[in-house]
Amino acid sequence: MSGKANYHGTKGTLYLTDKRLAFVYEKRGIMSKSEHTPVNLPLGAISDVTVVGRGPFKKISIHTHKDKLPLGLPRYEFKVHNPESWTLKIEEACLSLMPEEVVVPMVPTKCAICGTQIEPPQSECPVCGAQLT
Ligand SMILES: [Zn+2]
Repeated sequence: MSGKANYHGTKGTLYLTDKRLAFVYEKRGIMSKSEHTPVNLPLGAISDVTVVGRGPFKKISIHTHKDKLPLGLPRYEFKVHNPESWTLKIEEACLSLMPEEVVVPMVPTKCAICGTQIEPPQSECPVCGAQLT
């Protein structure tokens, strides 16, 4: 996703990929031949996205994890045309980035006393009542 955005009064383009959120200044005149990227946030560093302001002054406000981005700002604000859909898209992208929950394999255990197979999540033998350790 990308769209025209305004970052602290400077026009540019906001890009959302499945890895990062970046803002690139619009090329201005001959003085800035190369594109400048003042904001290049890995999605993992984003903690929260909200819409702030009202009506034509609506902006998206992006909060960052300070520990994951020690050199970045704690908050970035962009004026975009459709702040709600940006917020939604950024949240979706961040969620899809979440590490998958570590699932501890649940394996049946045999009761040490009577040898009955005990299926998780049971913690005691259904036959003799022995506790699993
Ligand atoms: Zn048993």
